[in-house]
Amino acid sequence: MQQQKIKVRMKELVEILNKASRAYYQEDREIMSNQQYDALYDELEDLEQKTGIVFSNSPTQKVGYTVISSLPKVVHGSKMLSLDKTKEVIKLKHWLGKQKGILSWKLDGLTIVLTYKDGQLYQAVTRGNGEIGEDVTNNATVFQNIPLTIPFKNELIIRGEAVIKYSDFKKMNQVLSEEEQYKNPRNLCSGSVRQLNNEITAKRNVNFFAFQLVQADHIDFDDSKQKQLEWLQSQGFEVVEFVTLQQEDIERQVKTFEEQVTRNDFPADGLVLTYDSLSYSSSLGQTAKFPRDSIAFKWSDERKTTTLIEIQWNTSRTGLINPVAVFEPVELEGSTVSKASVHNLSILEELALGVGDKIEVYKANMIIPQVAYNRTPTGPVAYPPICPACGGETEVKQMKEVKLLYCSNPYCSAKLVKSLTHFTSRNAMDIRGFSEATIEKFVDQGFLKSFGDIYRLNQYEDEIKNMEGFGERSYQNLMEAIKKSTHTQLSRFIYGLGIQNIGVSNATLLCEYFDYDLDSIRKAKIEDFLNIAGFGEVIAQSIYHYFQIPENQEIIEDVLSFLHFESPIISEIEPLLQGKVVVITGSLNYFDNRQALQKEIEKRGGKVTGSVSKNTTYLINNDIDSTSSKNKKAKELNIPIITEEEFLEITGIGR
Ligand SMILES: [Zn+2]
Repeated sequence: MQQQKIKVRMKELVEILNKASRAYYQEDREIMSNQQYDALYDELEDLEQKTGIVFSNSPTQKVGYTVISSLPKVVHGSKMLSLDKTKEVIKLKHWLGKQKGILSWKLDGLTIVLTYKDGQLYQAVTRGNGEIGEDVTNNATVFQNIPLTIPFKNELIIRGEAVIKYSDFKKMNQVLSEEEQYKNPRNLCSGSVRQLNNEITAKRNVNFFAFQLVQADHIDFDDSKQKQLEWLQSQGFEVVEFVTLQQEDIERQVKTFEEQVTRNDFPADGLVLTYDSLSYSSSLGQTAKFPRDSIAFKWSDERKTTTLIEIQWNTSRTGLINPVAVFEPVELEGSTVSKASVHNLSILEELALGVGDKIEVYKANMIIPQVAYNRTPTGPVAYPPICPACGGETEVKQMKEVKLLYCSNPYCSAKLVKSLTHFTSRNAMDIRGFSEATIEKFVDQGFLKSFGDIYRLNQYEDEIKNMEGFGERSYQNLMEAIKKSTHTQLSRFIYGLGIQNIGVSNATLLCEYFDYDLDSIRKAKIEDFLNIAGFGEVIAQSIYHYFQIPENQEIIEDVLSFLHFESPIISEIEPLLQGKVVVITGSLNYFDNRQALQKEIEKRGGKVTGSVSKNTTYLINNDIDSTSSKNKKAKELNIPIITEEEFLEITGIGR
């Protein structure tokens, strides 16, 4: 086999073997027999011996993870300068002149210097400030793709970039809490490479791409950096993607890279052009700031000015409410863009974003839309007092230097796992066997996105039965419990929706007031809710806002098709006030308002009128000695004037 093919085979073997042991040890599955495993293992070990290359993630090298107390500082042998930059292709052309050049990605991660001695990885140091870096050898051993052992036995020093793929970045951010999440792959990479516990680093899938050979004694590279990079590949390193070119190819090649950047899984923030000739490069020396043999090309972030239409607020699954700038659509890097995340309240305030402002937008690394600048700041717009997902109250939390907006409702509909757990809980839909852990698994699998999905779970029968901790019997039990819950009471359902401030008793009051008619509840106004005894402004607001959100109405509509509400068992109320006519005047103490009292009277067969006449049975007035016209009239007609308390006494309300 050719050298290149051998390395491909080795990587393949590493991947297969690691997959097999992951399945075996972590998922309790066997994807190959022991004999098969051993045969592949032997093949890999054999190839490692033949080539002298051992990859860092090779199963032949699995050692325990180590936790260290600090990252020792290391002084670099030669100062690591940053590159001079340009945003103009024409400058690259002038710069290259008649020389042969190498054009490669400028990867957006963390620059690392690797040193090998006697064919072994000896040290890995971060760039740091260019003069002093940190020793991250412990972590480099668990990078995805660096060789721990190489065939070359003299001292070798190389530079390269540690990066995390966009796809891995997305996955990892999903498992981190909002406060711990990283803004971009570079931050995540930096946090991963500079870990004290390399078990964490190992899980972050850090990749290393070599871009420069600093020292490899006694090897003739034929005065060519291209040869150096190819030689590094032969030693088992992955090398940054590059092309060799002449002046006249530059425009075309830059364009080719540019077209690829948005599809790249590796973050790159530009290109690097370097002279191929080693002797020419070293003859140039360096300025105080930059080496003279290389130049960076930065994408000139295409900026467009547009008008801010609004700030949208999106509640995430953890209850964090993120501001998103919505603007007049603009063309950026070949696609139409109309939204950009503003990340948090602090950035919103910094940019002072107000509706109608002229803002400049661009795509960071040509991918992620961002608001760069506000030309006419009139904001910041106020953040919403209520959660856009559930109508609950919002609260601002200060996390380090950043202000974040959260929904304070623990059962917010955006907090999917929590809200489903609440919906299925004992006092709500009472679905036994639906633990939070189970719900979390189902949500992760994508089985559950809303309440209605609970009643469609049977379409995942096979998947569920095959899930860890599930079998035929537990599946059947769950289905049984779900089926049972379809016959329920409206108050349980209302409680289960997780509306802020609507506990079991308020849900019952709500149902009673609206005669167990969900439609009237959904359409009611704030004033209607205020009429319910014991409902103040705060409760009325939260329930009203909940039903104002179209998504909530859709969720309810969807789940309703599965449910049947039993008619409520209303405690028998004696028609004590049958045929009695009551007039209410003055302020009330026990009831929130007159409507609430009227409701109680009507429940007991009584009637409430607005003025005192000979047909009036009682005048309710807490101020018996009042000289109001109603009191006078009642006295004239000999109609008893009673206080609220006396009325409660007569009717037995509140006992
Ligand atoms: Zn909410």
